[in-house]
Amino acid sequence: MTATRILVLNSGSSSVKYQLLDMRDNARLAVGLVERIGEETSRLKHTPLTGGGAESRELNGPIADHEAALKAVAEELAKDGLGLDSPELAAVGHRVVHGGLTFTKPTVIDDTVLAEIERLVPVAPLHNPANITGIKVAQALRPDLPQVAVFDTAFHTTMPESAARYAIDVQTADEHRIRRYGFHGTSHAYVSRETAKLLGKAPEEVNVIVLHLGNGASASAVKAGACVDTSMGLTPLEGLVMGTRSGDLDPAVIFHLARVAQMSVDEIDTLLNKKSGMVGLCGDNDMREITRRMGEGDEQARLAFDIYIHRLKKYIGAYSAVLGRVDAVAFTAGVGENAAAVREAAVAGLEELGLAVDADLNAVRGDEPRLISPEYARVAVAVVPTDEELEIATQTYALVNS
Ligand code: ADP
Repeated sequence: MTATRILVLNSGSSSVKYQLLDMRDNARLAVGLVERIGEETSRLKHTPLTGGGAESRELNGPIADHEAALKAVAEELAKDGLGLDSPELAAVGHRVVHGGLTFTKPTVIDDTVLAEIERLVPVAPLHNPANITGIKVAQALRPDLPQVAVFDTAFHTTMPESAARYAIDVQTADEHRIRRYGFHGTSHAYVSRETAKLLGKAPEEVNVIVLHLGNGASASAVKAGACVDTSMGLTPLEGLVMGTRSGDLDPAVIFHLARVAQMSVDEIDTLLNKKSGMVGLCGDNDMREITRRMGEGDEQARLAFDIYIHRLKKYIGAYSAVLGRVDAVAFTAGVGENAAAVREAAVAGLEELGLAVDADLNAVRGDEPRLISPEYARVAVAVVPTDEELEIATQTYALVNS
């Protein structure tokens, strides 16, 4: 029997998201999520997708750590005949947030690779430790199975130095590995490829601006299939206005908060990462709620929306300049795929750049990649649903079969 199944694990500090896929037809066999690991109120939600139905099962009650979480997931999978001991399981694909400059592509994990991911913890203190835990627990469960790391940063390693370096003292930057790494790379890679497909072209033939607008948000400029610039930097704080993150600001705001407002570094970190962006501007980070409030004439929600759109437009303009020629702008992730009002506003007034949105096409909802620009528009505007788990599974499967 050939092994064609891939388990995709996305381990966060207190959660594990997982999907089991069969790579013969990219079918999802099961999906699930363990939340609030380490608390009394942990929850495992497991949805088997074999056999037609999609009845979820929920386990509520304390799950002490990631090891207990993965064991519980393995038990749930086994109940559906999808156990991790199956010879059909080919590999586990792990989402790893930070691969630094070392990892430019998916990598089979051995002790050296794991040590390097650990060495990158100082530049990704919130993410890499959880990813490492997920890897170690999966290794312990199936020591014989290839474990593959798929890095959020890898797609951006093609950025030229002119885009990747901050204009600070080179020696200091190098000593502390300070540069722009970019994130959401699996999504930018997948969506830019799918956009080329939608245009009936090879990725090498097109230049695409990808706008990944979820709770976290980032833009990228993809030239002939390779990333040449992206809006997130050393950490996912830089760039667009996000659900709870500020995105770009004058770095002197930080000195000001420290000196004048007497805030500690940790307090400023929390302010900019968790209490800023849309939540800081209007108290809500869900675009559904923000647009609903705008409909009721809420001025605060309107201003937050306008700030969000203003930043987005600046990046579309900047990346049009970086790319020289733009073939498509692709909207993706929760906001990009669902919020027609955001897409319309982001493109409004950019006719000189060749951009326009057809109101009727923009209003259509769907799960498939689709064009929303009028036929006359020089640049295609597209909605392209992202699928990071499928991308991780595809890259993992390709690697173990190469
Ligand atoms: P992440 O993976 O970063 O947590 P997602 O890509 O799932 O985020 O996006 C989540 C966000 O998408 C929500 O916070 C909300 O703002 C937005 N969103 C989801 N559905 C809709 C919708 N129907 N209309 C507008 N915005 C939506």
